[in-house]
Amino acid sequence: MEKRQSGTSSLLLNKDDLMVIAGAGGFVAGALARYFHERGFTRIRAIDKKPLPEWYQHVPGVESLCLDLSEKENCVRACEGAVEVYNLAADMGGMGFIERFRIECLRSVLINTHMIEAACRAGAQRYFFSSSACAYNTELQKDPNVRALKESDAYPAMAERGYGWEKLFSEMVCQEYWAERGMKTFIARFHNVYGPHGTWDGGREKAPAAICRKVIEAKDRGKKEITIWGDGTATRSFMYIDDCLKGIDMIAHCEDLIATPINLGTSELVTVNQLVDIVEDIAGTKLHRNYDVTAPRGVAGRNSDNTMIQRILHWGPHTPLREGMAKTFAWIEQQYADRKAGKRTVI
Ligand code: NAD
Repeated sequence: MEKRQSGTSSLLLNKDDLMVIAGAGGFVAGALARYFHERGFTRIRAIDKKPLPEWYQHVPGVESLCLDLSEKENCVRACEGAVEVYNLAADMGGMGFIERFRIECLRSVLINTHMIEAACRAGAQRYFFSSSACAYNTELQKDPNVRALKESDAYPAMAERGYGWEKLFSEMVCQEYWAERGMKTFIARFHNVYGPHGTWDGGREKAPAAICRKVIEAKDRGKKEITIWGDGTATRSFMYIDDCLKGIDMIAHCEDLIATPINLGTSELVTVNQLVDIVEDIAGTKLHRNYDVTAPRGVAGRNSDNTMIQRILHWGPHTPLREGMAKTFAWIEQQYADRKAGKRTVI
């Protein structure tokens, strides 16, 4: 029986089909496990190499395994009986991490290589891979007033060193598993995901969370200033986690998108300075900005062209940045207070 049609979501799947979610101790995959659980899926296997107490989210009723998925045998174990596999496991972080630890980023290629083979051998019907906007040609991102990146802009290839090349290579692996082995693979290029239950301190955090934390810290310590990485003029778009989850679900169940990389991001372009304005406004404060131009800053500008997702899914991420940031700020503020009070936090 054909369970679903093009452009539909997991709602038409059997609720006891086994879903395997890799990287579920982290931000997006942890939220994805909760998303499917809340939609009534009874067999979800969540996997991460982090010890269980360090996972950002624990979803009751979800099988949670601590396995290093860069090892082939662990991938075989992870994919046993899987109907759908979502690979979001990767060694990654914000610019500070991906510019400094290129080898770690490149080694994530082992995860996708073993996971996709294990999924295929296990007879999985669908395989989702989380790629990144870092796979795009960096030559097209040298100006803050960038033209939004469309899917064809990944080639000719000049991805971001380390992390971006790993994503681009793994995308190709996914495409070939469809072409040669007939496994349905799906590839979304995420553009900066943010929201509650993400990394907010410790070196892997990204700009939205880092700025929230710095503003909260400044307020708490009575400081009147913060340090911003770069000169504040770089531009990006930021996608709220709920949009990312819905997008993953729609993309992974759309027959028109098999083996076809697609942008998953908003097209609401802002400068880093504008992002700080938003956070200050939410916090009800105004701080002096010191710009650290020696800090890692990535490309000058990057935005998502959503023509393709609108055309195929008749949908696109739409949560306004101000709205998503207010929820994120409130969550980080609570984490900050909990940590100060000696309570356990997700970081
Ligand atoms: P995250 O760091 O919070 O989660 C990734 C998880 O993968 C971590 O919990 C980590 O422990 C786990 N992991 C790493 N190596 C592993 C291994 N060998 N075996 C098992 N687990 C392993 O990151 P995230 O923000 O949730 O990102 C999820 C995916 O989305 C990643 O593939 C990332 O590259 C991609 N992505 C994220 C963003 C973003 O803005 N968050 C943007 C573009 C792409």
